[in-house]
Amino acid sequence: MQDINYNALASKFSAKYRSNEIEKISNSTFDLIIIGGGITGGGILLDAASRGLNAILIEKSDFSSGTSSKSTKLIHGGLRYLKKFEFNLVRKVGKERKIANSNAPHLVLSKKMLLPIYKNGNLKKWQTRLALKIYDFLAGVKGNERYKILNTKATIQKENLLKSDNLLGAGYYAEYTTDDSRLTLEVIKTAITYGASAINYCKASKLLKYNNKISGVSCQDLKTENIFNLYAKNIINASGPWVDKICRLDSSSISKNICHSLGIHIVIDKAILSLKNPVYFDTDDGRMCFAIPKEHVTYVGTTDTIYNSDIENLKIEEKDIYYLIKAINNAFSMKEIDRKDVISAWAGLRPLIFKKNTKTSELSRKDELIISDSGLITIAGGKLTGYRLMAKKVVDKVCNLENLNKKCKTRQVKLIGSEFIAKFTLDNYYNIINKKLEKFNLDKNISNYLVSKYGSQSEEIINIFNNNKLKHIVEAEAIFCIKYENTHTLLDFFLRRSGKIYYNPKLVINELKIVSAVFKDKLNINDNNIFLQEKEVKESLIMT
Ligand code: FAD
Repeated sequence: MQDINYNALASKFSAKYRSNEIEKISNSTFDLIIIGGGITGGGILLDAASRGLNAILIEKSDFSSGTSSKSTKLIHGGLRYLKKFEFNLVRKVGKERKIANSNAPHLVLSKKMLLPIYKNGNLKKWQTRLALKIYDFLAGVKGNERYKILNTKATIQKENLLKSDNLLGAGYYAEYTTDDSRLTLEVIKTAITYGASAINYCKASKLLKYNNKISGVSCQDLKTENIFNLYAKNIINASGPWVDKICRLDSSSISKNICHSLGIHIVIDKAILSLKNPVYFDTDDGRMCFAIPKEHVTYVGTTDTIYNSDIENLKIEEKDIYYLIKAINNAFSMKEIDRKDVISAWAGLRPLIFKKNTKTSELSRKDELIISDSGLITIAGGKLTGYRLMAKKVVDKVCNLENLNKKCKTRQVKLIGSEFIAKFTLDNYYNIINKKLEKFNLDKNISNYLVSKYGSQSEEIINIFNNNKLKHIVEAEAIFCIKYENTHTLLDFFLRRSGKIYYNPKLVINELKIVSAVFKDKLNINDNNIFLQEKEVKESLIMT
């Protein structure tokens, strides 16, 4: 495996040199232009670039700021889709789990999920056994990874906080967890090292046409308000919840390809809800929720309600928070949690393929490729887990339209950060990083944190720390993110690069001034602007 190409990242993906990159690409012609910097757009960028196509992605906000940082963060086949007989979907995305894990083992972690079975619950024991058998079969799960059905005692041993009244046992099966935002970013960064370009804070404001056929995109740089054009015959609309808005730039007729379903998650400190395993549990209205332990917290979700309001300003309704609090108190036997125990929360919109007279929970999670009369290629729907396959479908289509014989390579493309696997297992690598940090009297939690977010790039963060004789490792992390990850604001850093606003809000309060000083210095931000950025971070901590 090759070393990380930091030169490519520093020249094409540094927040400091973003304007140089825009100058270079302005008015250029590409093989394809991708609108949307979530996992779908990122996946397409990587697929195209790794086939040797000249591709660019534009994102109107920060990378992954849409749904791709607001999911349940599972790389899963979707057990519940079996209920709707979506065998093909489960088979396809179920198999993707292993591929995602082998291409980014520090970001896609194999975890066993506990599915408790209760008398009068959603699933009977025989149904659970059957469902898990089919699930494992479709996803090609083998050996020790195969599901087990646990009896009541073994279930409580695995998770002693589960309510034991009427508990009949549990299914125990293979799933994978991830960090959706970092996964999206590493996919995009990997594409950059294949020669692609990606610009954040850059909005597709107009679609350009020649002879009624799509020929380019007029882009608005939201940092400077400058307008510039990009040209390509193949323009991909990968804007998730916004796909219909982009379709409307293409055609004046109203298009309704998707509908929105809102899902929220709440986060509870592990000191209050300390789970050993991810749990998939029944709610009292017949739905199911996930409770996932991660770092210092357990997060729980999700709701699934039709959403018809403004998609730019998602609000977390108190009633949704209370719905999840009630679900937790019904399922687990710790001291009852209440509103003040919720330390953070997030809300995301599922872009689901629209079907008349169907409830959102009944709508398929499949993806769909739509090509307009002018040639705009829209990819709608889908799941985080299936991002690689969706990308393959889109780029296959482009190659087909262009008569190009270029095969998809992403099955084997390792994401940036996974270079350590050439020499170490993930556990060994934690120890290696830990030893390096011991020299600076930094504790073990930091190595766990760094490796789980940055994989092999942890070593570069430690180099920055050491070479600059810094006092705090977070200063090195911030410098790294500015230099190699197009990180412009404190919110980009605390929310999407590090996830600390969700998983460790108290730490954000301690680190805010330190990181703020780094951003001010490295990006020449004036006092007023940095004050506003700090305010933005504090406002997003409002849940605490
Ligand atoms: P997005 O991530 O929303 O990206 C679209 C991007 O386009 C946005 O960043 C937006 O800013 C940008 N954009 C819009 N308009 C423009 C424009 N004019 N110019 C430039 N850019 C523009 N899937 C799983 O596999 N596992 C899960 O556990 C899971 N849990 C979920 C839980 C919830 C609550 C939700 C809502 C979804 C979940 N999903 C899950 C589904 C998954 O998260 C989504 O399918 C996926 O993130 C969608 O990615 P995307 O790139 O299509 O959309």
